[in-house]
Amino acid sequence: MPDSVLAGGVPSIPEFRPIQKTVFAERAQRLRDLAQGHAMQEYLLFASAVARAQAGELELFPDTPVPDRARLEHCQRNGLPPLSIDSPPHVGWQNGLQRLLDALNQEALPPRAAQIVTTLHDADAAALERDRANVLAGAYAEIDPGRAPFIGAALQVHWAKMALRLGKSGRSAGVEFGLCPVCGSPPVVSVIQTGGAKQGLRYLVCSLCASQWHVVRVKCTACASTKGVSYLFIEGGTDAVKAECCDECKTYLKILYLDKDNRMESTADDLATLALDMLVDEKGFRRVGPNLLLSPG
Ligand SMILES: [Zn+2]
Ligand SMILES: [Zn+2]
Repeated sequence: MPDSVLAGGVPSIPEFRPIQKTVFAERAQRLRDLAQGHAMQEYLLFASAVARAQAGELELFPDTPVPDRARLEHCQRNGLPPLSIDSPPHVGWQNGLQRLLDALNQEALPPRAAQIVTTLHDADAAALERDRANVLAGAYAEIDPGRAPFIGAALQVHWAKMALRLGKSGRSAGVEFGLCPVCGSPPVVSVIQTGGAKQGLRYLVCSLCASQWHVVRVKCTACASTKGVSYLFIEGGTDAVKAECCDECKTYLKILYLDKDNRMESTADDLATLALDMLVDEKGFRRVGPNLLLSPG
């Protein structure tokens, strides 16, 4: 069925927005812009360099095997994400990681990051598979926090390649509420869109594959409750980014209002508003999904 058909004269809501191939290049640019005069300048410039390397990898090595048609149909029949993080990825993700590290070797990285690049270059395949499993499971206590953003970045590109190849056919309807319909990961943020058919609609952005899916507003994105949802933001800071907090399940997810600032990019603006996470954390709310470019240490 077409994505946006007229049903009884009312335009239906596009439920799914597939990843765009410019995602990493735009993220790199936005991170560089945000870094100017920011308290986290060094980290944002580092994240920008990582996103730039991701953009290069996606451009130069776009092909990664994807599930065949029978597998896609099976997933769609059973409400399973076709690129599920529960299945180990093709080993090619490790080649992608090595190319990312090579690209980052050309960048002026902070000394600690440069050291980790060298360590990861020499890491054996089994150790990298353990890192991969821990990052995808959100088991950050089990991984060196310095390594996590590099592993996360390589996995993002690997999944982005697959999601790009599948396009709209990569989405499965009926995947568990709150999880990406393509890969089953939790979201990094939600975004209120502007312009055209998507004006005012809220989409969750996948923390791993950058696919976007629609969830109505004023509803907890983790437990679907509409009771006890409140919005916290930093006094005197931007009101274009708030934390949507749920009293029912005690979780939160940031929400970005593009009508207040249309330059925002999901992962970049999430990173640049870490102070908001700290505020909300102090109030006892747990974050729903990770930002894979953030070092959890
Ligand atoms: Zn996803
Ligand atoms: Zn909730």
